[in-house]
Amino acid sequence: MPLEVDILGMPKSKKDKMFSNQKIIISIVGAGNVGSAIAYALTIKNIAAEINIVDIDKERTAGQVLDIADGMSFVETGHVISSTFQNAKNSDIIIITAGAKQNPGDTRLDLVGRNKKIMKDIFTKIGKLKSNSIVLIVSNPVDVLTHYVQKITNLPPSQIIGSGTLLDTSRLKTKLSEYFKVSAQNIHAYVFGEHGDSEFIAWSSATIGGVPIKKMPGFNNKVAKKIEEFIRKEAYTIIEKKGSTYYGIGLSVANIVKAILYDQHLIIPISSRLNNWNGVSNVCLGALAIIGRKGVEGHWPLKLSPEEKKKLQHSAKVIKKYL
Ligand code: NAD
Repeated sequence: MPLEVDILGMPKSKKDKMFSNQKIIISIVGAGNVGSAIAYALTIKNIAAEINIVDIDKERTAGQVLDIADGMSFVETGHVISSTFQNAKNSDIIIITAGAKQNPGDTRLDLVGRNKKIMKDIFTKIGKLKSNSIVLIVSNPVDVLTHYVQKITNLPPSQIIGSGTLLDTSRLKTKLSEYFKVSAQNIHAYVFGEHGDSEFIAWSSATIGGVPIKKMPGFNNKVAKKIEEFIRKEAYTIIEKKGSTYYGIGLSVANIVKAILYDQHLIIPISSRLNNWNGVSNVCLGALAIIGRKGVEGHWPLKLSPEEKKKLQHSAKVIKKYL
């Protein structure tokens, strides 16, 4: 039988061997609003060679793939394709956005029963994960589901990460940037704890261009309270106005994916299993973690104020009830 060769004369089998294991593949399970926003953000940021989208709703997946792939001539991303649960296990990163979402008035914790079942279903279908894969949980309640997926998969907890309070932190930076009229990139301020109603802002460590926020003219307890209230309620506000939130989380997740694939050792507030971080252990919560190719490489030793520590402990208590 004649050897199959490409246009340059290289045998196809040799070429497949050279390149097959080298391309970066990201799978997104859940082709809804959030999954498609993440796929779009990853595509336009040229982060992966191939983005695989998987969902039980095959029609919706096909529609999302066609729509996103329509823009491929403007980016460097190679392919966006419909894929299968079995294929997802060969990815470098598996992002989980499948599941029930909040209806107006629902808390994220209201989704726990339905979405735990969906996680079980997804990881049963995917099967044993590749030892260097990273799983990124986005579905809510993200802290509870991250802990749950750590229990039902074969990977170490450091390779199962939740998006945590990264989105809330980005919301905070946007708000502070509008208030102080400086770039959000010059603001170092974090939201920690549950990605939900018990989250809190760590004002004691917040700085803008090296200046502690508490010393900034125009900042006081009243402003702090107003901003904190706005951030905590923002998801509810968006859901009330347009049904769901997806663009902000799309870019937040692209930021985490880049930190992993580029091995950036980026310090960001994601959800991971804590081991005596400001006195809290054995629960996944939004806290400052160092993120690289191996997932969570460690936790940044930021010291919270005594009052903030109590808030973190409260969040831990809330989440532990659902584990
Ligand atoms: P959506 O309803 O638009 O999409 C959910 C998708 O999940 C649907 O396409 C559905 O077919 C799919 N699905 C359901 N069960 C499945 C299964 N067993 N296997 C595969 N796919 C399945 O919802 P959305 O707006 O995209 O939200 C998705 C999730 O993301 C929700 O839980 C939401 O609360 C969460 N979310 C998290 C954040 C965050 O910051 N972590 C932000 C926004 C939304």
